[in-house]
Amino acid sequence: MPATVRTRIAPSPTGAPHLGTAYMALFNLAFARKHGGQFILRIEDTDRQRSSKESEEAIFDALHWTGIEWDEGPDCGGEHGPYRQSERLDLYKQEINRLLEKGHAYRCFCTPERLNELRAKQMANKETPRYDGHCLSLSPEESAKRAKSEPFVVRMKIPESGECTFTDELRGDVSIDWTQIDHQVIRKTDGFPTYHLANVVDDHYMGISHVIRGEEWISSTPKHVLLYQYLEWEVPVFAHLPLLRNPDKSKLSKRKNPTGIFYFRDAGYLPEALINYLGMMGYTLPDQREIFSINELSESFDLKRISLGGPIFDLAKLKWLNGRYLREQLQPEEVVQRLQTWKANPNFLEKILPLALQRLETFSDFFPLAQFLFSDQPEYDLETLTGKLQSDQPAKLLKIAEWELEKASPWNRHTLSSIFQKIAETEEMKLKQLMPLFFVAMSGAPVSLPLFDALALLGPDLTRMRLRSALTILGESGNGLSKKGLKSLEKDYASRYGNRID
Ligand code: GLU
Repeated sequence: MPATVRTRIAPSPTGAPHLGTAYMALFNLAFARKHGGQFILRIEDTDRQRSSKESEEAIFDALHWTGIEWDEGPDCGGEHGPYRQSERLDLYKQEINRLLEKGHAYRCFCTPERLNELRAKQMANKETPRYDGHCLSLSPEESAKRAKSEPFVVRMKIPESGECTFTDELRGDVSIDWTQIDHQVIRKTDGFPTYHLANVVDDHYMGISHVIRGEEWISSTPKHVLLYQYLEWEVPVFAHLPLLRNPDKSKLSKRKNPTGIFYFRDAGYLPEALINYLGMMGYTLPDQREIFSINELSESFDLKRISLGGPIFDLAKLKWLNGRYLREQLQPEEVVQRLQTWKANPNFLEKILPLALQRLETFSDFFPLAQFLFSDQPEYDLETLTGKLQSDQPAKLLKIAEWELEKASPWNRHTLSSIFQKIAETEEMKLKQLMPLFFVAMSGAPVSLPLFDALALLGPDLTRMRLRSALTILGESGNGLSKKGLKSLEKDYASRYGNRID
C-alpha cells in the first residue's frame, strides 16, 4: 500500500449527473477513508463542446445530496489544484512536448478524409480500425516545420507487437495485445489534450495512488500504463469496478432505468437509502448487514470483497430498502421534516401555485390538480391515454418525444415548448391533437396544469420515466411498437428530425 492513499472520481460535466458517478464516488471514498487517505473530485472538461458549467454545478449538487463528501475539488480547493482540467492546459502542453522530445509521440497531419478512407478499408478487411502510422516516418525537422502552417494532432506511439500486462486489484493480471490498441491521439487539433493524456497527467500530479473506476476503462488502461512509463512516473494501482446493470442484465441505461441521480431525489427517495443500495452493488459487508451508512461501509471496506458479476440495479429492491429506512432509521418527526425538505415546502408550492391558480376555487382543488408533481407515477387507463389517436400512433409519438427530450437543454419551459412544437410540425399535427396524449402520460388526465411549465418542474428524469411507463402500458396491451416497427421508426426519425439516436 502506498504511503498515502489518494483516490478520485473524474466525471465529465456533460449532461445530467449519473448514478454511476455516485457509485464510483462511494467506493473511492470508502477506500480512501478506510486507509486514512483523501478522496478528490476532479472535473474532466476537456471536451469543450459537450462540457457545461450547469452540468458541473449539477454534479456538485447531486453528490452533496447523496452525502458523499470530497476532500479536494474545484469547489473546495486543495493543494493539488486547479481541479478542473480546462485550467491545467499548460501542464498538459508541457507533458505533450516532453513526449514529443523523447520520441514517444509524434505529430500527425493526416486529413479526416485519409483517416476515413483508411478506416473504411480496414473495416472492409475485417481488421480492427487503427491508425497505420503514416506520419511516423516524418523526420522531426519536417514535422516541426509543417506544424507551423498545418493543423495537426499528436499521437502516442504504440508498440507494434507483444502485449501490455497490468495488474487489476480485482482481476489479477490483465493482458491486452498492443495490436488492439490504436495510436491514440493525445492532443487534438485545437491544442486541447484528450481524456487519456489529461487523465494520466492529473492522476500523477494529484498524487492519486489508486485509480478505482468503471470496467469500461479497462481497454484504455494499456495506453495509460504506457504513458506513465513514457513519462517515467510511477503507475498507480488500478481497480475496475463492475458496471451496474438493468434487471435484464444489459448495461444500466436511461432507456430502461432511471440513471440520473436527481431522479431519485425528485421521486422521493432518501439519499442514505440510495447510497446504502449502491454500496450493495457487487459488495457485501463482512457481517452481511443490509443497512449501513457511508461511515460503516468505510470502516471495513476491502476492495477484495467486490464481486465481479454485474450487479443488478433493481428499482423494486431500492424501494423496499427505502421503505425500511423510513420506518426503521428515521423518527416520525424526521420523516415529516424530510418530507418538507423534499416537496412539501413553500418554495416548491410557490412554483406550482401560478400554474394552478386559474383553476382554484378552494384549497381543496389544489392537491388534486398538483398531485402528479408529487407522485412517482400517475394512474390512467389505456383509452384515456390513446384518446383519439389510432393504432401505433401514440407509441410512435411517445418514442419520438423520448428521443427529442433527451437533447433538451436547458430543461425549461421554453425548450420543452419548442420540442413539442417541432414534433407537431414534423408530424403535421396541430398541437391540440398532439398534446392530450402527453397530458395523460405525464399527469394522468387529459387536461391538467399547463404542461410545459409542469414538466419543467417535474424534471427530465421523472418525465422520461413517465414516457417509458406509458410506452410499457401500450406495449402490454398490444398497442406498442414491434421490434421491426421500432427499427423503421428509428431510421425515419433520424432523417425527418435530423437527430442521431445515441
Ligand atoms: N472522465 C472519465 C469519465 O467521465 C473518467 C474516467 C476515469 O475515472 O479515469 O468517466
